[in-house]
Amino acid sequence: MSAFSHDYTTAAARLHAAASSWRHTRYPHPLQGPAGEALATDVYRLGSTSAARLLIVNSSTHGLEGMLGSAAQLAFVESLPPPGPDLAIVLIHALNPHGFAWRRRVTEDGVDMNRNFIDFSEPLPENPLYQRLAAEVDPESWPDLPVAHLTTTLPLRQAVHAGQYENPRGSFFGGHQPTWSRRTLEAIYQAEGGQAGTIQLLDLHTGAGPWAVTEMFVAEPAASGIARSWFPGAEAFVMADRPRFGDPTGVPGLVISSLRRAFPDRTTIASLTECGTYADERPVSVIRRSTYAMHHGIDGTTLGQRWAAEAQDAFCPADPSWRRFSLAGVLERLNQAVAALR
Ligand SMILES: [Zn+2]
Repeated sequence: MSAFSHDYTTAAARLHAAASSWRHTRYPHPLQGPAGEALATDVYRLGSTSAARLLIVNSSTHGLEGMLGSAAQLAFVESLPPPGPDLAIVLIHALNPHGFAWRRRVTEDGVDMNRNFIDFSEPLPENPLYQRLAAEVDPESWPDLPVAHLTTTLPLRQAVHAGQYENPRGSFFGGHQPTWSRRTLEAIYQAEGGQAGTIQLLDLHTGAGPWAVTEMFVAEPAASGIARSWFPGAEAFVMADRPRFGDPTGVPGLVISSLRRAFPDRTTIASLTECGTYADERPVSVIRRSTYAMHHGIDGTTLGQRWAAEAQDAFCPADPSWRRFSLAGVLERLNQAVAALR
């Protein structure tokens, strides 16, 4: 049976059943999914809080990207040999369960989780390119064209990828305060950190990079050498080094930046896995259109459902070979992470 599930509820239930011997903690989400279903971030732990090393695997930072992330977590649980006494493993299933269930990138408040981990007591980051192109990135009316017909020029990509903090109804909005998902992750860190001296976080994503290839990204240049040695065979990049992210100062507010802040006195290694789908244009156009649908009451309509299905395909293609190679790629990174910490 495929590790992929068609929706959030099925994915959550399957992991729950597979991880029945793991310690389970549920963080209920205050809202419901599109069919009135309950939502939660579920945390599964294998190993004691006195373990010297801890691996945290997170899925669904970007809601619908949880399709692959949760499949990988399920396959990981089903194939994992006993990790040994000094290693604990924590799985976070659906950091953004609302976005997963609604087949969106963003949270219930329209926030891109991977731009939300900034210090809100400081002035908000500015994105002058977005300011200039906001009307094109996030238009007030949307043409009913198949997403393949929508163009996304390079300046548009740069304008959106860096994130923005001024338009709550716009794409890649980083928020004006910590979201429910961020507060939940911080609570999970508190509950699960235990006595581990070394903590590794793997944050699972899809939608960027070459088709079905799993790449690694780290937030800090110092960590790229470690990432390369821990994940042999994987391309490892420092986030800010990639030209397609535009802004040379990098992307603010990444989830992977939260680990060091939560555990300043421990050894922390945080990386993000990306698994490519289509060329950049399609995922970015889908994100922009999905943002438009959310803020213009289109989500519940037939058109909105079609757009959501296209969004799902853009971040987790139904193509069987994509699913097979992508799942194998992420699973290999998870097993390498375990091997590095063992
Ligand atoms: Zn993502």
